[in-house]
Amino acid sequence: MKLPIYLDYQATTPVDPRVLDAMIPYFTEHFGNAASRSHPFGWEAEAAIEKAREQIAALIGASSKEIVITSGSTEAINLALKGAAEMYAEKGKHVITSQAEHKAVLDTCKHLEKLGCEVTYLQPDKTGRVSVEAVAAALRPDTILVALMWANNEVGTLNPVREIGELCHSKGVLFFSDATQAVGKVPVDVEADHVDLLCVSAHKLYGPKGVGALYVRRKGPRVRLVAQMDGGGHERGMRSGTLNVTGIVGLGKACELARLEMAEEAKRTAALRDRLEQRITSALDFVHLNGNREHRLPNCLNLSFAFVEGESLIMGISKIAVSSGSACTSASLEPSHVLRAMAVGDDLAHSSIRFGIGRFTTEADVDFAAEQVITAVKRLRELSPLYEMAQEGIDIKTVNWQAANH
Ligand code: PLP
Repeated sequence: MKLPIYLDYQATTPVDPRVLDAMIPYFTEHFGNAASRSHPFGWEAEAAIEKAREQIAALIGASSKEIVITSGSTEAINLALKGAAEMYAEKGKHVITSQAEHKAVLDTCKHLEKLGCEVTYLQPDKTGRVSVEAVAAALRPDTILVALMWANNEVGTLNPVREIGELCHSKGVLFFSDATQAVGKVPVDVEADHVDLLCVSAHKLYGPKGVGALYVRRKGPRVRLVAQMDGGGHERGMRSGTLNVTGIVGLGKACELARLEMAEEAKRTAALRDRLEQRITSALDFVHLNGNREHRLPNCLNLSFAFVEGESLIMGISKIAVSSGSACTSASLEPSHVLRAMAVGDDLAHSSIRFGIGRFTTEADVDFAAEQVITAVKRLRELSPLYEMAQEGIDIKTVNWQAANH
């Protein structure tokens, strides 16, 4: 079977061959347990982990002592949110987040609510951005934590992290940012950006799956968390469990490559993203950009195609691997909660496609994808009476075209 062209880099990335090369010796030759203190096998593993910790820290402007290894962002988010809520419960029980966060944050917040916390879910603007004013208005004397993502995984919108961080620090409130999609794509500096807690996931930046990190600030303020995994007291007591040495070495190498190559790569992927958008919009009308043109990831493009039905569109472009704005739940097709929060109508949300561009994407890939999309959308619109009406200038604002096309 010929595989489709991969344009889903927000879902995951392949391991960079240079990352794999760095990892391989730690599966066989250097297989020690980093917690073994009494022989060179353990020392070697520990040294490799310390090097990786420094590589991770260097990418985000942290110190290596502030890096807690986890199994990925989901675990880091759970540790940050539950760990802070538990640690600071006497100070307050109010948490602020947004409706456009990843489920790892939203579901963790739901759990906090069950434990007696109160959570404010801010609505982002139409581009997916949460303003510093909205955060300021939601702050209360009992607010202990603000949890807002750096970059949205569906539409690529960047939040004004630095302003929000400054605000939180001025009010003595902790600031967590889910930077899963941002680290390695845009500059992240926990000092300049006033972030107290931040998560990273290796598989989003050309490292292996199942490993990530939580940055935990040590000074100004010193952040303390209640561990969510009890055991041998690894990771300064915050996350017990034998460390995944190979994965951590891979995460470290991936971070080093990102630090050295990010600026160039961002330029290259942004040019490919713009080429894709330009090709599509010059051939098709009624295409809507979901996201923020000014504040966005360089490698993400989310478009909605009016007058086509989402599922048919996905089937029509099976030669490219992309993600759709509709998520299949058991019985129904739900539009994405992010697009809903951005008040994109359900019709447009259903016909949205996320194109994720990455390190190994070529111009030929992008041109092929554009051609596939253009052909599929044109074909589907031939079946749409509403599209014809819209072209003739008839006001169809009040008509639900997904329903009308059935
Ligand atoms: N947060 C965001 C914004 C993501 O995009 C993802 C991955 O899809 C996660 C969290 C979860 O990351 P992980 O796969 O490392 O658990």
